[in-house]
Order: sequence, then structure tokens, then C-alpha cells
Amino acid sequence: MDKYFVIGNPVKHSLSPDIHAMFAAQFELDMSYERAEFEPGCFIEGMAVLRREQKPQGANVTHPFKQDAYQYCDEVTPRARKCEAVNTLIFDGSRVLGDTTDGRGFIRDVTQRCGASLTGARVLILGAGGAGRGLVTALQDEGCARIYLANRTPERAYSAGMALGCDAGSFVDLIDERFDIIVNATSAAFSGAAPEVPTTAFAECSLAVDLTYAALPTPFMRLAQEAGAVRIEDGLGMLVAQAAESFAIWTGRMPQTKPVYETLRARLAASVAE
Ligand code: NAP
Repeated sequence: MDKYFVIGNPVKHSLSPDIHAMFAAQFELDMSYERAEFEPGCFIEGMAVLRREQKPQGANVTHPFKQDAYQYCDEVTPRARKCEAVNTLIFDGSRVLGDTTDGRGFIRDVTQRCGASLTGARVLILGAGGAGRGLVTALQDEGCARIYLANRTPERAYSAGMALGCDAGSFVDLIDERFDIIVNATSAAFSGAAPEVPTTAFAECSLAVDLTYAALPTPFMRLAQEAGAVRIEDGLGMLVAQAAESFAIWTGRMPQTKPVYETLRARLAASVAE
């Protein structure tokens, strides 16, 4: 049986094993997909044990190891090199290949499930961490009119903007700016807050997406709605779509995302009702 893992810390709440089990069932594939929690700062040691004892065919990598995974690979795709992050590992004998499917998953979810058009859109990405930088690189092939990367620590936005070739600034700089699509790629939700963005930035916003997901609207989604965003979404759709891209890399088969998204959304809704 082919073996796959999601590597992170913490990973006990990761939905990836459920998602990949549903994908495998679509094709009646006999594969296992499990969680692997590595100690912080111990990616290389953790990988050595996992590969020796489990002999996996592939793995997903999540917080906080995406940059470690990038360094670990023998070869990476151009899109992974551009954002210096890897979320998908392919083990080919002794060689390790790395890719990132986050950006592609985001674009698929926003254009196909949400029906948004990126062509000519003014897009604001909040957060210049791994996820935010990955989205910028993916969006650069989509014909956006403008891509603006804003970060709480402005120096980080400026250096990422220079490296990636997009507009960049602090949250305060957004006071006179307007965007069609606004994406929260910060981890502010971990502290139960929304990033401190001027509400005026949402005045012409047709779609606001929070990359985090929850059973109830996140603080960012509530802020966006109150500030005038027409549609608000969380990150569950992207989570399923980026997983589908990884699954296709490993198996050569692209699964259907809609039934998986709907199952997980219903489960989240039921968890609130309990
Ligand atoms: P990261 O590399 O650790 O970056 C974190 C970012 O959040 C930084 O830009 C940081 O700004 C900012 N930040 C943290 N607390 C903040 C606050 N209170 N206010 C404003 N900004 C704050 O994390 P990441 O890997 O990019 O992930 C970011 C988020 O995206 C996480 O919540 C993650 O779960 C989510 N994500 C979701 C998916 C999905 O499939 N749905 C995929 C990837 C990531 P400073 O530079 O100022 O510290």
C-alpha cells in the first residue's frame, strides 16, 4: 500500500487525512495517509526516522516546516523556488522532489468554486509570510490589474515586494486604496483577532477570503462583511483544492473537490449545532 503523511506541529486537528481518504475513495485507491508531528526545529531528524521506518511515497508539509522542507529537497519546482516554500514532497528513491500547491489551490478555489474573475482584478494580500508570498507568485500568472502585499511589519512587506515584483506596504498605507479581492494570509486568527486593516480598503471589495477556516465566520470575515465586502469566504475551499493538487501530483489523478468540500463544511456546521 502506498503511504503518505502530513508533517507539521501541531497536526492532530489536520483535516488532510480525511480529505485524502475521500479522494482515494473516488478512485478506489488503496493508500494510507497519516499525521506525523515533528518536534520544532527537528525537521531533518524527523524525516530521517519517517523515511527509514515508513518508506512513504510522498508527504504534505504544513506549519511550521514549509521553509525547512524547501531546504531539504534535492530538486524543487520553479513555483516552489519563487516562494521558497514546499508543501508537497515526492520521494523518488533516495531523491526528494518538492513543490508548492497552495497558490494553485487558492486560484482554483477562488475562480471555480467562488466564480471570481482574477483578470483585471485589484488584489490585496494581507501577510507576507509563506502563504502570502505563495499567493503573490501564483497570482502573477492570472492577469490581475494589481497585486499589493501588505504586512504588519512593513519591512517584511517591502523586502518580499522587491523580491517578488509586486506593490508592497504597511496596513496604514492602505487607507486610500481600494481592492476587488482581499485575502487574509496572516495568522492573526490564532490570537482571535483580525489584522488591523483600514475598513476603507473594503469599500469596493467583491470577495474577501480568510485562509484560516472555522465553523463560524472568523474575525477577519466579520470585519470584511461589516466594512462592505459583498462575499466572504474562509480557507476550507483552498485547503481541499491544494490537497487535490498534491493528490494529482502523487497519483496522476485529479479528484473532485466539490463533494469533499461539502462533506467537510457540513461536518463543521454540525459541530456548532452539537
Ligand atoms: P507565517 O509564515 O508564520 O506568516 C504569518 C503572517 O501573519 C506574517 O505576515 C505575520 O506578520 C502575520 N501576523 C501574525 N499575527 C498577526 C496579527 N495579529 N496581525 C497582523 N498580522 C499578523 O504563516 P503562513 O504559513 O504564511 O500562514 C498564514 C495563515 O494562512 C495561517 O493562518 C495558515 O493556517 C493559513 N494557511 C491556510 C491554508 C489553506 O489551505 N487554507 C494554506 C496555507 C496557510 P509579521 O511579519 O508582522 O509577523
